[in-house]
Amino acid sequence: MNKIFSQIKEWWRSPQMTGFWFFLFAGIFSLVIGLRYFYGIWFWVNFVIVLISGVFIFRAGHRAARESRLAAFGYRRLQSIVSNLSDGIVSYDNNMEITEMNAAAEQIFNIEKELVIGKRISPEWGGDPKLKMIAQVIFPSLAPTVIKRSDPGVYPQVVDISFVEPDIDLRVSTDRITGEKGEVLGFVKVVHDRTREIKLLRSKSEFITVAAHQLRTPLTAVRWALENISSVKELDSATKELVSTGLSASGKLMKIIEDLLNTSKIEEGRFGYEFRDMDIVAFLEEALSGVQAIAKEYGVNLYFDRPANGVPIIVRMDPSRLGMAFSNLLDNAVKYNVKNGSVTVKIERMTDRPYVEVSITDTGVGIPAEDMPKLFSKFYRGANVTRDETDGTGLGLYIAKNIIFRHGGGIQAESVLNRGTTVHVFLPTDPKLIPPKEIIYGEE
Ligand code: ATP
Ligand code: MG
Repeated sequence: MNKIFSQIKEWWRSPQMTGFWFFLFAGIFSLVIGLRYFYGIWFWVNFVIVLISGVFIFRAGHRAARESRLAAFGYRRLQSIVSNLSDGIVSYDNNMEITEMNAAAEQIFNIEKELVIGKRISPEWGGDPKLKMIAQVIFPSLAPTVIKRSDPGVYPQVVDISFVEPDIDLRVSTDRITGEKGEVLGFVKVVHDRTREIKLLRSKSEFITVAAHQLRTPLTAVRWALENISSVKELDSATKELVSTGLSASGKLMKIIEDLLNTSKIEEGRFGYEFRDMDIVAFLEEALSGVQAIAKEYGVNLYFDRPANGVPIIVRMDPSRLGMAFSNLLDNAVKYNVKNGSVTVKIERMTDRPYVEVSITDTGVGIPAEDMPKLFSKFYRGANVTRDETDGTGLGLYIAKNIIFRHGGGIQAESVLNRGTTVHVFLPTDPKLIPPKEIIYGEE
């Protein structure tokens, strides 16, 4: 009985059933009137019409009430998922009015949602210390360091944003909210806090740093001993050869250890850059003279195509780190070349952007097309080079890419197998384009 009552109470309260209740009263009223004015068959006709219409109206109302209850349940369920997500969620409509923000987003941005919900967000918010972070997430161009992780125009758009103060690393995916006809109604951003993940990655690299350091010290002693022995005049030729093999092997081991050390320091975000302004033309001249000896050994000619006007091009750089990157690029162009081949370094100021482009073109063995996507990843070495060139860790380009990115630049390669390769390096001539802190680019 109770159940029936509570069901009737629920129908009574449901706005979708209002039509039925009206009809019920109107129907009863018409039946009462019918009792007085309709006779015989007409009374029953009236009765049947009221009954059938009542059943139809009740069923329609009941169905609508059920659907609305389900929709409300679905909405509340979604709300509860959104509010319990560990990733931050912020949504805004076409007018840039913030419509939703969950607890995780409040925590990441360190604000209360009441402060922003229903407000129109604009780039000016970037000037308010309290709202700066949310403004930089909604307008990533305001953020100090942004790395795009998806192609332009493809949704969801993914970017990594790094903040210096506080030291936070976020991955933000932006997707469109579309209507039934595909029209854009607004946007939703999912903000993932990667600060802890990055700290973990750093501590993993720390192990390699320590191990490489420990290996370097005794190896230096071994090299020193071998060098001393090799300088002894009275050695017979067999011993001399043994010592020289030992020296060359220890040299290779040292290079592997240095590469591992550099990679792990980069991944810990503490490669330690020291920037200063330098003329990139003079800088490249020096880098080229550094590979002269090895070019001679491989029978490869070096050419430098410098800018016509002879005016210096000032770039803010860490010369020792950038030197490391360029000497690997030049080393590759020489080593993966053919006898009597050439390497041409060209430098040009870009006309449409504040960047300088350095291209290194060789006439060497080239890179297989299917390997191109792996070129800048850790430990990649092409099958077409490992037969002739057994040395090499495959870390050179990974390190070079990270160093160039740290300078606010970019690197690309194009290659034709057995014809040659060109590596293009872009470096900003405007120091404002250099990221304010070391970020880990990894292999993505
Ligand atoms: P190292 O760590 O000593 O530099 P590596 O030269 O093998 O070793 P990377 O400089 O990272 O490592 O280059 C990775 C791979 O990319 C090379 O092994 C080679 O297969 C390919 N590669 C790079 N530059 C060229 C080039 N100019 N021509 C042909 N292949 C190249
Ligand atoms: Mg190399």
